[in-house]
Amino acid sequence: MSLKLDGKKLSLEIEERLNDYISENKKIAKRAPGLAVIRIGEDPASGVYVSNKQRACSRIGIKSSIFHLEENVEQKEVEQLINKLNSDNDIDGMLLQLPIPKKFDEQKLISHINPSKDVDGLNEINIGKLVKNEPAMRSCTPAGIINLLRSQNISIEGKNIVVIGRSLLVGKPLSLMLLNLNGTVTMTHSKTLNLNKICREADILIAAAGKPNLVDSSFVKEGAVVIDVGIHRLKSSDKSQTRLCGDVLLEDVISKVFAYTPVPGGVGPMTVTMLLVNTIFSWQKQFGLSSTLNDLFP
Ligand code: NAP
Repeated sequence: MSLKLDGKKLSLEIEERLNDYISENKKIAKRAPGLAVIRIGEDPASGVYVSNKQRACSRIGIKSSIFHLEENVEQKEVEQLINKLNSDNDIDGMLLQLPIPKKFDEQKLISHINPSKDVDGLNEINIGKLVKNEPAMRSCTPAGIINLLRSQNISIEGKNIVVIGRSLLVGKPLSLMLLNLNGTVTMTHSKTLNLNKICREADILIAAAGKPNLVDSSFVKEGAVVIDVGIHRLKSSDKSQTRLCGDVLLEDVISKVFAYTPVPGGVGPMTVTMLLVNTIFSWQKQFGLSSTLNDLFP
C-alpha cells in the first residue's frame, strides 16, 4: 500500500510545537509575534486565504493584523503602508496577499517589504540568498513540501527530482531548495518536450503546473514519491456540485507510487503552517530566542 503524506496531520503537529514555543518565549520577548497581511480589492479566493491565515495565527498565539485596502488606492499609498509596517516594532512578518489587481506593480510592492519581515520569501534579497544557499526567509509552499518529505524520512540527497512548473512562487524556489539539499533537480515547464518521459525518471516528482489531472500513470516511475501542489475546484457534469482536485490523477497513479500527497490535505495546510514558522523565525531573531524550531528550516 502506498504511503499518504498527510499534510493536515503534520501541520497540526507543528502548530502544537509553535504554540508551546510562543508560550515559553513570550516571557522573554514580552509580546506575541505579530503578522500583518495586506489585501487589496475583493478577490473572493483571497478573502478565504486571508481568513485561513488569520485563524491559524489565533490558534497558536500570533497576533495578526489585516489591512484590507480598496482597489482604488494608489500604488504610493500601499508603499506607504508597507514602509509603516517595516518600521513597526510589533510586526515580525508581513505579506501581500496575491493576486492583486493588475494596475499595481506587484514586484515593486514586494521589493518594498523589509527582507527580514518578508514571510512569503518573495523579495529579491531573499530569493538571491536562496540562490546563494544562505540562510534567509524561504517561501512557504516549497518549505512545506521539504518538511513533508522529511517527516517520513524521504531523503532528497542524490535523488532524481523532477519539478513541473517554474513559477517564482513555487517551481523555481522549490527547485533551488532541493538543489541546496543535494537533490539532482530537473525543472520543467509548458515548453518542455517529452514531459512524461522526463517525469518517469524521477524518484520524486513534484507537480506544480496548475493543470488539473495533468500527471497520469504514464508520468510516474514504479516506487516514486509524487507531490501534488496543484489545487483546482472542478464542477460536476451537471454543475450542481464542486470538488477539489490537484495536478495529479491520483486514482491512476496511486498503485504505482511509494508515497503521495492528497488534495486537499497535502501541501495546502503545510503552506499556511510555514507562514507561521517564518513569522516566528523573525520574532526569534529579533529577541534572540532559543533555536529549538530550527529543524523546520528547509
Ligand atoms: P503558475 O504561476 O501558473 O505557474 C505554472 C507553471 O507550470 C509555469 O511555469 C508553467 O510553464 C508550467 N506549466 C503549465 N502548464 C504546463 C504543462 N502542461 N506542462 C508543463 N508545465 C506546465 O502557477 P503557480 O503559482 O506556480 O501554482 C501552480 C499550482 O499550484 C496552481 O494550481 C496553484 O493553485 C497551486 N498552488 C498551491 C499552493 C498550495 O499551498 N497548495 C500554493 C501555491 C500554488 P511556463 O512557465 O512555461 O508558463
